[in-house]
Amino acid sequence: MPLTQYACSHCGFWQPWFAGQDPIGCPVCMDVRNALPPDGWDFRTAGDLTGKVTTRWAEAMPGIVGFSCEPAFGLGSTGWLLLREEGNIAFEGAPFYTPEALDEIERLGGISILAGSHPHGFGALWQLAERFDPTVVIHRDGLRYTKAFRVSWPSDDVHALAPGLTMIATQGHYEGHAVLHDARDRALFCGDCLKVDLDGEGRPVALSCHKGFHYQIPLSHDEIRRYRAVFAELDFDHVFTPFEHAAGVTRAHALGLFDRLLAGAPSTRPFPLESLA
Ligand SMILES: [Zn+2]
Ligand SMILES: [Zn+2]
Repeated sequence: MPLTQYACSHCGFWQPWFAGQDPIGCPVCMDVRNALPPDGWDFRTAGDLTGKVTTRWAEAMPGIVGFSCEPAFGLGSTGWLLLREEGNIAFEGAPFYTPEALDEIERLGGISILAGSHPHGFGALWQLAERFDPTVVIHRDGLRYTKAFRVSWPSDDVHALAPGLTMIATQGHYEGHAVLHDARDRALFCGDCLKVDLDGEGRPVALSCHKGFHYQIPLSHDEIRRYRAVFAELDFDHVFTPFEHAAGVTRAHALGLFDRLLAGAPSTRPFPLESLA
């Protein structure tokens, strides 16, 4: 039977299912970390989204282009494209790529390596895999969420993606959750290790951590200790979550947050940035 890719309109997660027949559910929404869609399942194909959802792109920093959707679809993720002479790297995905967005990526040099932190940031990675045939790197513990695309390089805990670009497993928020450190740009693509609260002008004002955001489930102390051990080795002045670029969030802020969380009962509450470093 032919398969079709379906996106859950509540969270944006894509999965292949039988053509003409909605999937039986969305594994991400059924997980304890997410809420169920209040009005029941609503699955969309790429054909359904064409003409209704537009992909926008903008350079967040020199050589780092963010792709997102308008209107927002699913959780509203942003896919980051790192432009490199030795081959571009895509980390995380927009929920949907229009043909114009895919053509723009082609014009920018295509994609050599495709990777992601965890399912909330995957977006439509399958579209990028199909169009550009990159090496697809996902941590081996995250493979259960990758049915929409073929992982060609399951990674271990530390994986050199390219010169100066290292993917490191943090676990915690999701099984197989991994961050990408960009030494050249002093940036950390931190997945959902950090939730950044922004003010009206897009400036970061507070940081928090969670296992599950919708139900405010905290991480355990051992999970925070692992985050701390990973982050302590990485120098950065910027973070890129699957949702935003937060300039000025540094390693000192992250370590400050982890130390505050380790000093008390597990919590998802945000701490003001100025109190952390
Ligand atoms: Zn879903
Ligand atoms: Zn997440």
